[in-house]
Amino acid sequence: MEREYLIVVMPRTAGNQAVAQAADFLHKNGFEARIVNWSDRTLLVTQRNPASAEVNGLRETGITERIVFPTSKAQLASREFQSKTSIVEVGKARFGADKLVIIAGPCSVEGREQLLEVARAAKQFGASLLRGDVFKPRTSPYEFQGLGEPGLKLLAEAREETGLPVVTEVLEPERVNLVAKYADMLQIGARNVQNFALLRAVGKSRLPVLLKRGMMTTIEEWLQAAEYILLEGNPNVVFCERGIRTFERATRNTLDLSAVPVVRKETHLPIIVDPSHATGTRDLVAPMAKAAVAAGADGLMIEAHPNPETALSDSQQQLDLKELACLMNELGAVAKAVGRSIR
Ligand code: PEP
Ligand code: MN
Repeated sequence: MEREYLIVVMPRTAGNQAVAQAADFLHKNGFEARIVNWSDRTLLVTQRNPASAEVNGLRETGITERIVFPTSKAQLASREFQSKTSIVEVGKARFGADKLVIIAGPCSVEGREQLLEVARAAKQFGASLLRGDVFKPRTSPYEFQGLGEPGLKLLAEAREETGLPVVTEVLEPERVNLVAKYADMLQIGARNVQNFALLRAVGKSRLPVLLKRGMMTTIEEWLQAAEYILLEGNPNVVFCERGIRTFERATRNTLDLSAVPVVRKETHLPIIVDPSHATGTRDLVAPMAKAAVAAGADGLMIEAHPNPETALSDSQQQLDLKELACLMNELGAVAKAVGRSIR
C-alpha cells in the first residue's frame, strides 16, 4: 500500500507538553496531526506521510515511543498495531475475555411489560447484556419505527431492575448524544456500517460500540469502518457478524462464520455473532449460535420475545423465553469444548 499517513505513538508517560511538542514539530514541517487518545497513550496521526528526513528529525527529539508506517488502511484496528487482544468492557461484561458475552432481548422495545419480562428472563438465564431497539431501521417506512425516547427510558428502567447494561441502535449522528444518555453501548446496524458521519459521531462518544457487518460489506471494508471510530479516540469497538446477502434464499442472510477467525486474525478487537438476523428463522438460531461459539466468537446476540408471534418486528426469528433458556443451557457445553464459559 502506498503510505498515506503516519502514526506517532507517544510514551505512556508523555504529558500534554510532549504531545504538543510532537504536534508542533509536525506542524512546522507542514503536517497537521490528529491527536488520538488511545487506550493508555496518545497517538498523533497525520493525513500525509512525512519524508524520511522529517521522520528522523521527530525521532531525534526523543519524545516519541515509536513511529509506525502503516501497512493497512485500518492500522489502529490491526493486530500488527496491537498484538494483544483488546477487552471491551460494558458494565461487568467483558468482550474478548474467556467468559462469552451473551446479549439477549427483543428486536424492538414495544412496551414496559414486554421489555421487563425479557430482561428478567435474560438475567435469570445468564445473559450479560440486554438489547432492544427504540429507533428501528425498517425497510418500509410503513413498518413499526420504534418507540423513540420513551423506549430509551424503559431500557434504563430494565437496567435498573436487572443490573444488565443495555445496547441499542442509533441511526443518526444527531441522536448519538440522546441515545448515549441512556445506553451503555451503542449499536451501529448493518445498514449504517458505512455511514461515515455516524461512525465519527459514535467515535467521539465515549461509549463502547457494537459494529454490525453490512449485508454487502467485505471484511476489509468492515475493518475500515471500525477505523473511523478508533481514529476519533474511541478504542472500544466490538464487531458483530450478522450474515451477508447472497443468492441463497432459504435463510434471510448467509451467516459468514469464517469472518470470526478472519477478524480474530486481522484485528485485536472482539467479535460476536448474531444468528437471529443471520438466519431469520427461529429454529435455525440455536444451531448457528452453537456453531458461532465453536468457531471462536466472543459472544452472541440473540433476539427473544415473550410472545414472538405478536412481535412488531422480526417475529419469525425471535426465540420465546423457553427457547432462550434452552439455548443458554446447551451453549455451556460447546463453550467448554473450546476453552470458554458462559457463566
Ligand atoms: C437489529 O439488531 O435489530 C438489526 C436491525 O440488525 P441488523 O442491523 O443486523 O439488520
Ligand atoms: Mn431485529
